[in-house]
Amino acid sequence: MTKPQIIAIDGPAASGKSTLGKRLADALGYLFFDTGVMYRAVTWAALKHGVEIADEAGVTALAEQAQIDIRPPSRDDGRACDVLLDGVDITWETRRPEVDGNVSPVSAYPGVRQALTLQQRRIGQRGRVVMVGRDIGTVVLPEADLKIYLDASAEERARRRYQEIVDRGGQADYEQILAGVRGRDKIDSGRAVAPLRPAEDALILDSDRLNADEVFARVEALWQ
Ligand code: C5P
Repeated sequence: MTKPQIIAIDGPAASGKSTLGKRLADALGYLFFDTGVMYRAVTWAALKHGVEIADEAGVTALAEQAQIDIRPPSRDDGRACDVLLDGVDITWETRRPEVDGNVSPVSAYPGVRQALTLQQRRIGQRGRVVMVGRDIGTVVLPEADLKIYLDASAEERARRRYQEIVDRGGQADYEQILAGVRGRDKIDSGRAVAPLRPAEDALILDSDRLNADEVFARVEALWQ
């Protein structure tokens, strides 16, 4: 194939999507856009402003009003990008466990998805982009010229999340993380709007069997 202009990468939490996406974007000189951070930003906004996660209308209004900006990283502290909410840097707040625990119900609200999908589509349609999420190949950019679905077992994904937290100097409980990963998978795959699933024309890769270098090499080989 010729070099794709729009690359969509979907898959469950911690399957290695961001690592692959960032590497591809760097190699091609494209924009890397991790759409999960937008759902995380709305979740953080709700927690911060005391809007109940169960309050669909309240959370949806937040998603419609919040000014979320994703910018290239301003600091070399392990972040893939800066996440700004109404001008304030919330990059690391979006990674907090309380956000992990509440982001799936927030992203299941149709109004939240509608507000964020519109913004994502506008950015994606400019081309030269690697966009990562759950519904990029199926809903946000079905016209993407390369779609990848990166899968891995829940155990392997929980192990990676555990390691990430420990590497950043934090404390973590593997069993708790595994339960969280399974819970999010269930909501993300079972929701009515834009559920997590591979697009029919997606290339499916299993990162249990392939390490990050091998996944990258498989994808790059498509146009080299
Ligand atoms: O990828 P990440 O784990 O940061 O995404 C956080 C959550 O945002 C996911 O569990 C999912 O509920 C939601 N999400 C989504 N659609 C996307 C990206 C993320 O529903 N395109």
